[in-house]
Amino acid sequence: MTHDRRLWPGYVPPQRDELFTSWLMRICRSHEYKSHSFSKFYFGGLPIWNRDLDRDGPSVLKELICSYTFLTPQSVDNLFLKSYEGSIISRVVSNGPSRVILPLGIRHRKRNLYGQMFCPGCLDNDLPYYRKSWRMAFNLMCVSCGFYLWDRCPKCQNAIAFHRLENGLKNSFLKRSLSECYYCQFDLRYAGLLVKSKDLIDYQKRIDEYCDSSFEDTNPSNLPEHYLKLLTLLTQPRGGTNRFQEVFLAQNLLKSYKINAYSNLQVRQEILPQINKHLGSIEALKEFLVNNDIGKSCLSSVFYDDMEFYSKL
Ligand SMILES: [Zn+2]
Ligand SMILES: [Zn+2]
Repeated sequence: MTHDRRLWPGYVPPQRDELFTSWLMRICRSHEYKSHSFSKFYFGGLPIWNRDLDRDGPSVLKELICSYTFLTPQSVDNLFLKSYEGSIISRVVSNGPSRVILPLGIRHRKRNLYGQMFCPGCLDNDLPYYRKSWRMAFNLMCVSCGFYLWDRCPKCQNAIAFHRLENGLKNSFLKRSLSECYYCQFDLRYAGLLVKSKDLIDYQKRIDEYCDSSFEDTNPSNLPEHYLKLLTLLTQPRGGTNRFQEVFLAQNLLKSYKINAYSNLQVRQEILPQINKHLGSIEALKEFLVNNDIGKSCLSSVFYDDMEFYSKL
């Protein structure tokens, strides 16, 4: 065993399912550094906040973390959303649009979109931290707390951007809790709102079951991604309507189709449980197509990359 490694003196271990940037903020705090100075000192000044680093970190960053800690390369990989690839998500792109990982709308240090969600109950912990699962477009509520997830501060409506809690700190480091809104200081732990909708609870339980079992590789097809494909079909904000949208609109399952579901959690909370209820299996989807006289080609624009599934319809 070598003893010449410079280990981080204020090391704190990552928590279960913790996002890299959340852990970084806690590490910086325990070293009494701001993230900018910490990166300068330990990561050669690698820019952290002007890109979506949580999707996947550069290998130089991962290697540095391994050299300053006793974390294994695999547990460092686990801090990034890329680690979901092949189990919960079929593919994670580090840049560019993704249907599954919510976009943050990054402009310099600002976040213009609502891609970082949270559960008030889970934040209400001795150790508030942000989960990887809170970046997934298909997660809508927390089954263990029974609360709705939020994608913005309920008080000031600003996007969640916990790194901006450091704003205005000059020669000091972050002392405020990660559970505070950076903009209005509202304590997000007080935003708990119990879910009463059975459709939503049924939906989330099914998704959670899928995600838990996907680690055992027993799932033949990717359920959350199928649902999101159908969501895309129902909410394409441009162009005219498709037959799918017309049927959903006529049956009052959809209020409007000119909406972007990926930048609005409330929209996803309304529509995804309906997709689960009415189109939750391949048999249900086939029946829906037949009963409403919809040609299966209507689905080709979203299922073109899953011909195995498409051919079964
Ligand atoms: Zn929770
Ligand atoms: Zn706020």
